[in-house]
Amino acid sequence: MLVKLQPTRIGMILGEGSIFAFVFLIGALSLHKAINKERKLHDQKKNFLLSVTHELKSPLASIKLYLQTIQKRDLDKKQVVSFIDKCLLDIERLDDLVENMLLAAKIENQSYTFPKEQFNLSALVDSIVNRLQINKCDFNQQLINAEIEPKIEITGDKFALSSVVTNLIENAVKYSKPCEEVAVKLFRKDNSVFLQVADNGIGIADNEKSRIFDKFYRVGSEDTRNTKGTGLGLFIVKQVLDKHKATIQVRDNKPSGSLFEIVF
Ligand code: ADP
Repeated sequence: MLVKLQPTRIGMILGEGSIFAFVFLIGALSLHKAINKERKLHDQKKNFLLSVTHELKSPLASIKLYLQTIQKRDLDKKQVVSFIDKCLLDIERLDDLVENMLLAAKIENQSYTFPKEQFNLSALVDSIVNRLQINKCDFNQQLINAEIEPKIEITGDKFALSSVVTNLIENAVKYSKPCEEVAVKLFRKDNSVFLQVADNGIGIADNEKSRIFDKFYRVGSEDTRNTKGTGLGLFIVKQVLDKHKATIQVRDNKPSGSLFEIVF
């Protein structure tokens, strides 16, 4: 039996059909996007576990080796002290890693209250610079160049903010060539407090600048990257600063590298 359709009915069917096709397409696209996002997160979590395992294992292996050498060999006092210093640096590295992971976990499950107190930010930045200065440059050169305006007091969570400063300076060192200069500046201007950390390292492409603050995000792929890390540092930095109503910006440093600027 042949059914003859009225032109208005054909129009209706075509209209409904195209709406259906449109909705279907949008659905398929969002599903595709969601699956991709899920897959990416899964990969990032897997890489995170691998890098954390590596970051835990390598200082432990080196501490073990130093202690075994001290135990087995007849070393003079100077050598023993130097080996113990190296062990302490590795322990500090482990401590930083564990602190970062704990803080990130607490921020995630919202159990951390960011207890605030008034404290001297100048003294805090100065002590972190001194600690990282000794850690990183083997040739005893001026690696971190700090210009810290004295007696800058702020109200905030001292523990979380020390993690912010540590993460920024550690990154500046990590993504630069050995002993290349890193500039840290703390100053007051127009009723605000500015903290700048600038390096002359590998720099960050414009399309990556907004993504580096995401949890687990690391620029490049696992196969090509040769720096160690977990992708948690800048996530912590951003979350902590949000809780302090402070802002962070990243821009290109001149002639090369990156400049991170926090405004309190
Ligand atoms: P990671 O543990 O990988 O260093 P972060 O969260 O601290 O994790 O940083 C995220 C990513 O941002 C890094 O993997 C790196 O690609 C990029 N990055 C951060 N700081 C710098 C910097 N100073 N110079 C170049 N790239 C940087």
